[in-house]
Amino acid sequence: MPEKPWVGMGTPCNETDKLLFAASTEIRIRDGQKIYFCESAWVAARRPKDIAPDLYSMSRRIASCMRPCQTTSGSGISQLAQTLACNIYSNLELWLALRETSLSPGTEETIRWKWTANGEYTAASAYRAQFLGSVKTDLHLLIWKPWAPPKVWTSDRLATRGCPRNDVCPLCRTEPETAHHLLVTCRFTKRVWSLIAEWLHYQQLHPSLSGITRSVSEWWHIMGELPNVSKKAVKSLLLLENWEIWKERNARTFDRREASTISLVGKIKEEARAWGIAGARHLASFVGR
Ligand SMILES: [Zn+2]
Repeated sequence: MPEKPWVGMGTPCNETDKLLFAASTEIRIRDGQKIYFCESAWVAARRPKDIAPDLYSMSRRIASCMRPCQTTSGSGISQLAQTLACNIYSNLELWLALRETSLSPGTEETIRWKWTANGEYTAASAYRAQFLGSVKTDLHLLIWKPWAPPKVWTSDRLATRGCPRNDVCPLCRTEPETAHHLLVTCRFTKRVWSLIAEWLHYQQLHPSLSGITRSVSEWWHIMGELPNVSKKAVKSLLLLENWEIWKERNARTFDRREASTISLVGKIKEEARAWGIAGARHLASFVGR
């Protein structure tokens, strides 16, 4: 019986923690002994699994436990580069990076923490890093505190932080993914609002004005001023809708799972009722009328 009861329980670390760690560290590859091929951010401060996700999913079981030294020595980097060339378009970036990688046997990798000047990890910098790239808004008054959504990272911001991101919106697969597109002008998001407007018999929720806005803040302002309805109810609904859109975006990006607009609105209805039971009175009377 170990002295400490948590011995052997593993590190409590979910996919979000891993993403934050990968985005926060820069690994200089040396002998390839200490890091994992797909999971470590060793290719220009990015993880191979983010550069070539299809390659990663194909070879997840093998590649995730391989170390670069096992793939880049022995059979040689060029052989791996040839394998990757079979799927050259999606793996082009990783292929080019590997061609320029060489190992230095006998020298250890270095890991640099990006959020401090000296490259050393501190808890305070890790805490601050969680808010980098979040959408800034002056609409704190709009947000009804008990239901404030988690921070929203979108592609335009994630791109500057080295996080995995989508160039094209995963909801409509047409437009570039930005915060404004994802939460306001995407045709998927607009369809969700149309269905919500029908459900609540309140046509003002129809996203007819979304096209004239240039930012998420502007859209929230417009939604916060809708007539003949409780502002608090609309604010809660807005947060709930944004939250479900963000979760859908993540399910498509990370888990390759897709929900239709109808099933997403089904979830929003369920959640709205649950919030009502939990104490969101204005929302409860809005959805129950
Ligand atoms: Zn879209």
